[in-house]
Order: sequence, then structure tokens, then C-alpha cells
Amino acid sequence: MSHFKEPPKKNLGQHFLTDKSIIEHIVHSVDPKPDDHIVEIGPGQGAITFPLLKRHGKLTVIEFDRDLITPLSEAAHGIGELTIVHKDVLKVDFDKLAGEGKIRLVGNLPYNISTPILFHALEHCTHVQDMHFMLQKEVVDRMAAEPGSKVYGRLSVMLQAICHVIPLFDVPPHCFNPPPKVNSAVVKLIPRPTEEIQIDNKALFEAVVRDAFSQRRKTLRNALSKQCTSEQLQAVDIKPELRAEQLPVRKFIQLANSLNASKASIV
Ligand code: SAM
Repeated sequence: MSHFKEPPKKNLGQHFLTDKSIIEHIVHSVDPKPDDHIVEIGPGQGAITFPLLKRHGKLTVIEFDRDLITPLSEAAHGIGELTIVHKDVLKVDFDKLAGEGKIRLVGNLPYNISTPILFHALEHCTHVQDMHFMLQKEVVDRMAAEPGSKVYGRLSVMLQAICHVIPLFDVPPHCFNPPPKVNSAVVKLIPRPTEEIQIDNKALFEAVVRDAFSQRRKTLRNALSKQCTSEQLQAVDIKPELRAEQLPVRKFIQLANSLNASKASIV
């Protein structure tokens, strides 16, 4: 008998995975190792939770829907040690959850708040080993886009500056109940080690990226006129007549760091 009686809630982005082979594929991709601290965001009715729990023996889940808490806890009996955090994931302190170690995040994310969840996880990425997320395919395409692509933009640069973005596989609507209106995809994110990437002033970097993409058709000289001069662009080998969509992630970082250094020398 199923422990879960409530119908899916639209306002919480509940699209429950039903396709066994996709679930297996996700668990296989996560490939839990004995000491891993795995944290699932939005376990729902446990489609990914219980196969992971069976394989790994213990799991922490963060679920906002109070109607799912008792059924999840009951259904976990005899399978493994399930720690349920009944909270809005955006209010969960991942650093605290990770303690001395690192957590591995997994989740078929509620699409209505998937971008805030991504950025919340990235803010804590020094305590995150990796992330496996199901998202709208269109979002995954933007996250992984390369310079020159039509969908290369602010999300691509902000994410790739902090993480390796690895799209894994696509998931069609019929694999969920109820089916979402759009295609989905699973993506793996691995935070870059600090020695690999150094953003000296995060706020300045964010402002440069935001302004650069604020009007895609503008040249960098015009789009970044509030942030820097053409000479400052040229000082880091960026042609002022380029557009943001042509600039690789590392050049955005180099520019922001150079602007930060010149600001520091003025002060
Ligand atoms: N993991 C399940 C599956 O694959 O079938 C459910 C995925 S469903 C797309 C998203 C889940 O996130 C739902 O269980 C929903 O209640 C939960 N959720 C929505 N908003 C949340 C929030 N702010 N914090 C934590 N969980 C949330």
C-alpha cells in the first residue's frame, strides 16, 4: 500500500518521476561512495530517494511540503537512515549541513524556483562536492552554452565561472506525473577548485557580466561604459567592438579582476 495519498501540487512544482530507467540512470550517475554525504532537494514521493537510500544506506532530504514528511519517514522504514529536513531549501544553510566535510546535492528541482536554488547552492559551493540536478532542458542548454552560441548569456558565464557544467541526458515529459509542458535534462555541476579560478571581487564580476549582457546587440565598449573605458578593455586584450556573447568566461574574470585591481590602486 502506498504511503503517499496527496495529489501532486502545482504551486510546489511537483512533477514526480515515474520512469524506472531514468531513475536508475540518475542513481548510476550519482554513483554514491561509502563516505558520501548525499543531500536530496525535494524528494517528493521518493522516486529518487528510495533507490538512493537502498544503495547508500543513508540520506538527508530537504522537503517543503508538510504533507510529504510523515509518508516519507514511514516509507523509509527498513530501507535505510533517512534524515528529513522540513524546510524551504532556500533557507537551508548548506555550510552548516556539510559540517567539516562536503555534501553531494541531488534533485529533480521544482522548476518554478530552479534558478534561485542553483545560485543558493553556488553560494555555498566550497562545501559542495558536486550536484546532479534535473532542470528544464532549455535552462541546461543555457548553463552549458559556449561563446558564440545564441543561448550563451549571463547564466552560462556565472555558472561556468564557478563550476564545470556537464549535461548528462535529456528526459521527455512522459517520464513524470503529471508531465511538465517542457523537456527536461539532467546536468552535473562540479565546483571548480579555488586554485583553478580566482574571482577577486564577486560583486564587481557580477556587475560586469550583468551589464555586458544587458543588451546583447551592444558592443562591449557601449554595454560596459559604466564599468570601464575602451582602454581598460584593451589592457586585457579584449576588443571593445566585440559583443558579450563572443567573450569567453575566463576573459570576463580577467576583466573584472583587472578593474578591481585598478580600483584598489586608486584607493
Ligand atoms: N524528487 C521527486 C521526484 O523526482 O519525483 C519530486 C520532484 S518535484 C519536481 C520537486 C519537489 O520539490 C517536490 O517534492 C516539492 O514539494 C519540493 N519543493 C518545492 N519547493 C521547495 C522548496 N522551496 N524547498 C524544498 N522543497 C521544495
